[in-house]
Amino acid sequence: MPVPRDILEDLRTYVEVEIQAGRRMSPVDAEAAAAFLAAKPEDGAAGAQGGSHGVLAPPVAATTHRPAPPAPATGIRHSSGAEPAPEGGVAARAAAAADLAAIAASVAECRECNLALTRGKAVPGEGNPDRPDVMFVGEAPGRDEDLQGRPFVGRAGQLLDKMIAAMGYRREEVFIANILKCRPPQNRTPTPEEMAVCIPYLRRQIAFVRPKTIVALGATAFKGLSGDPLANISRHRGTWCEFEGIPMMPTFHPAYLLRVPSAKRVVWEDLQKVMARLKQ
Ligand code: URA
Repeated sequence: MPVPRDILEDLRTYVEVEIQAGRRMSPVDAEAAAAFLAAKPEDGAAGAQGGSHGVLAPPVAATTHRPAPPAPATGIRHSSGAEPAPEGGVAARAAAAADLAAIAASVAECRECNLALTRGKAVPGEGNPDRPDVMFVGEAPGRDEDLQGRPFVGRAGQLLDKMIAAMGYRREEVFIANILKCRPPQNRTPTPEEMAVCIPYLRRQIAFVRPKTIVALGATAFKGLSGDPLANISRHRGTWCEFEGIPMMPTFHPAYLLRVPSAKRVVWEDLQKVMARLKQ
């Protein structure tokens, strides 16, 4: 099957960037990049996780949520993580965890919110625990993740795997986690309250893992990590910001890409920015 023109253009751009930087793109990298860009859209993405991955999600109701300080005029740049950690509860559990395994154990028996009543398996996250180049943060487990206890193993996860490969990594070389550790019923969008309760686990994971960069996948991840419940993924994707001093790149969620495959082009641009920064 001939490679579509837009994919060829993206590849050409990538190769040009590499050549200008004095590097050569290996055939393996080129193949992985093409695989992500050419990945087939799923049929309507039914079964891919719902929620607020894309640009069409309704804004989070700010009324039930303590507003974050206003973002600087240029947009979101620096964050120490959305929510003020609640006293006790998950914050205390996370603080008590001495390492990633202890966080995972705490997550597995957590009953701090009602999601514990409906979840199958809690999904703490997984990957390279030792200062990986990239940590990907998604929204919440979906059906497949809830069954397996592992992040991003459904169809959105398969596309994330392609994104990771296109960047030149194997899945186990990066770290993958979510804002929520338990599946919301019917994959509905996490509430601000659920995010506030759960995020101390992620903050503690990030502190242990110390990734060189964070890629925030979709609206919920970006809202949670930026601290702004009204943060707009469409406006901010592709622009660097920070989470506690770690460079953070917001981009669209792979589940959104399953519904809107044309958005893969801009996601690929965002990922290339991450790759370029890591090579500096
Ligand atoms: N979507 C997410 O945001 N996280 C997962 O783990 C799977 C799908």
